[in-house]
Amino acid sequence: MAAKGRKAEGKPLGKPLGKPLGKPSGKAGAAGSAPAGAKFKIIHDVPTCIGCGACAAVSSNWVMKGEKAKVKVMLLGKLGDNIDAAESCPVTCIHIVDLQKNKKLI
Ligand code: SF4
Repeated sequence: MAAKGRKAEGKPLGKPLGKPLGKPSGKAGAAGSAPAGAKFKIIHDVPTCIGCGACAAVSSNWVMKGEKAKVKVMLLGKLGDNIDAAESCPVTCIHIVDLQKNKKLI
């Protein structure tokens, strides 16, 4: 028997992410440079992903597409819950790079 007044099943998606950065214009910066405002880059090693869904369970920036996870926004101004997604991954196939420091965070 379902509890009265209970909302839909499942975990809340967490805090909203920063404003999407949109597509690079291709006008400014060197080839391959990140769009203005991008501070972090998400790297997903797709072949290593085992499709466990942990990232999608803890981060609203991750969804499951078939048997693999998919990141919605790769270039971010704010990390949001992407660190949680990377830390939850059992095969460490989510990496985050700080573009300003040119340093891998995880
Ligand atoms: S947590 Fe890692 S292995 Fe699991 S679905 Fe996400 S990216 Fe793939």
